[in-house]
Amino acid sequence: MTDRGLYCPDGDFFIDPWLPVDRAVITHAHSDHARWGSKSYLTSVPGERVLRLRVGDEAAIETVPYRKSLTLGNVTLSLHPAGHILGSSQVRVERDGEVWVFSGDYKTGFDPTAGLFEPLRCHTFITESTFGLPIYRWRPQAETFAEINDWWAGNRERGWTSVIYAYALGKSQRIIAGIDSSIGPIAAHGAVLRFLPAYANAGVELPKVRSATFDPTDTVKGKGLIIAPPSAAGTSWLRKFGQISEAFVSGWMQIRGARRRRSGDRGFVLSDHADWNGLLSTIAATGAQNIGVTHGYTDVLVRYLGEHGFSAWVLPTRFGGDEESGSDEDDAAGESAQNGGGEL
Ligand SMILES: [Zn+2]
Ligand SMILES: [Zn+2]
Repeated sequence: MTDRGLYCPDGDFFIDPWLPVDRAVITHAHSDHARWGSKSYLTSVPGERVLRLRVGDEAAIETVPYRKSLTLGNVTLSLHPAGHILGSSQVRVERDGEVWVFSGDYKTGFDPTAGLFEPLRCHTFITESTFGLPIYRWRPQAETFAEINDWWAGNRERGWTSVIYAYALGKSQRIIAGIDSSIGPIAAHGAVLRFLPAYANAGVELPKVRSATFDPTDTVKGKGLIIAPPSAAGTSWLRKFGQISEAFVSGWMQIRGARRRRSGDRGFVLSDHADWNGLLSTIAATGAQNIGVTHGYTDVLVRYLGEHGFSAWVLPTRFGGDEESGSDEDDAAGESAQNGGGEL
């Protein structure tokens, strides 16, 4: 670990560095992992376009297909699906038969917009732990999507516009892919729309999505579903849609849903991170004895693993430590980041 982030001296690269470096290997394009200003970036093929939107037109981005090995210095590196968002990767590094895997953010459930997580055998596994507490256990996502569909259909019957707040890269597209688009028209905030071409380019099929800003209001008002980032909540841009019903979709809704409901809106639990059981089953599937833990409830997971025969330690990050820090586009941000409100 260096002051710029996690560094591999044998391969001379950083993984998700938070300051500019010569060579950055990027697990995914959320802004707490993909920072602007490095000399070169390496990411997965499906992750290129979303990373480009993050680091700019001028950035030197090299891509590698999932599972294809590259030689960097004295190590062999390959990227493998992490199931978190479009293009998200685990980083596998091997030297002289010793294998380390850095998970990045991951989830183990199926997501047609993100590719399927695959556990990798390794000696050392560095796992995220955003939801690393035993209280976090996700219900089957089909149940959550059924609830969202019922809520939307009910609003439509009353002539209300439905509004879902979800982070703009990943969660929003997962919702668009998973809801029943026969219920009504779908529209999105500009912060969500800007990523859709990258999804289409990667072959992810999504229903038609209108612009909540530029398309005629009548095509959505009273019947449609609007997807917007949490920072848009409570701002005036939704006024033209008449009576609205609002819902937040996040892993945090498992504990914060009650508070949300008091203010009249809904909370649906859907996360792009592994829950407690997902973390433990993944760690077991790697066969690793040495477990680094980063992002989120690191101390709890490290203690648990230590009590169960693993050698586990906390890998500090600049953004880690608790769920209130990090990107406003990730579940990891909770609802703390309210910047960017009103920008369309
Ligand atoms: Zn993320
Ligand atoms: Zn993250």
